[in-house]
Amino acid sequence: RGLACEGNSLLLFVCFGSYFLTAMKFLLVFDFDHTIVDENSDTWIVKCAPEKKLPNGLRNSYRPGHWTEYMGRVFVYLGDNGVKEDEMKRTMTTIPFTAGMVDLLGFIGENKELFDCIIASDSNTVFIDWILKAADFHKVFDEVFTNPAAFSSTGYLTVQNFHAHHCAKCPKNLCKRKVLKEFLDKQLERGVSYTQIVYIGDGGNDLCPVMFLKKDDIAMPRQGYTLEKKISQLAQDLSPVECSVLVWSSAVDIMSYLKLLIKK
Ligand SMILES: [Mg+2]
Ligand SMILES: [Zn+2]
Repeated sequence: RGLACEGNSLLLFVCFGSYFLTAMKFLLVFDFDHTIVDENSDTWIVKCAPEKKLPNGLRNSYRPGHWTEYMGRVFVYLGDNGVKEDEMKRTMTTIPFTAGMVDLLGFIGENKELFDCIIASDSNTVFIDWILKAADFHKVFDEVFTNPAAFSSTGYLTVQNFHAHHCAKCPKNLCKRKVLKEFLDKQLERGVSYTQIVYIGDGGNDLCPVMFLKKDDIAMPRQGYTLEKKISQLAQDLSPVECSVLVWSSAVDIMSYLKLLIKK
């Protein structure tokens, strides 16, 4: 950018203009399950199964790190038992939002000039679309990064891995650090950089992206959940994360922080 600006006052103005416009933009990165909604969407769908439960053989077929394949088998089971798309949708849209989350997402939606907002989730595109659209929150989010899902011609829900990666810490289908890094690179190419990244999550797979955050960024782990425990373990081991950490138990806590942030 520096070179492009040299010796041309109009271009210089444009460069500074765009710099000024992007100078106060914050990136909010949300996990979905147990963060935006107060449940695991992949567990909630089991309410559609006969007797609202899965046979033991299927339940025990999960192998660590291979969640997407496991959910694929769950969707085959639901399809085999005649569970249709509209029933799944009706069930999924009853999933509760986390306390204070409806207000928080409303607040972010009213301040979109200050906040870019993305989701990085190990759920799937169909569930997240249904839930966000039913509550009219889909416009709050600029992008949703999650496992792509679709209904087949025979009416079965199918799901695929979001991507392939080489991270040893993350499940095979998704490394949220890679998601975040690629998103930031893409934004930078478009001339967008962020004053601060705010990462909001609860799970073990949220640690990898949190460890990528820098000292001006902030991780907001949900109180009492795996991410918080892993972050405090790192601090106890004298290798704390580089970013600031602020624990939340209700999304009201997150909103208070964001209000503070935009007053500065
Ligand atoms: Mg989660
Ligand atoms: Zn990773």
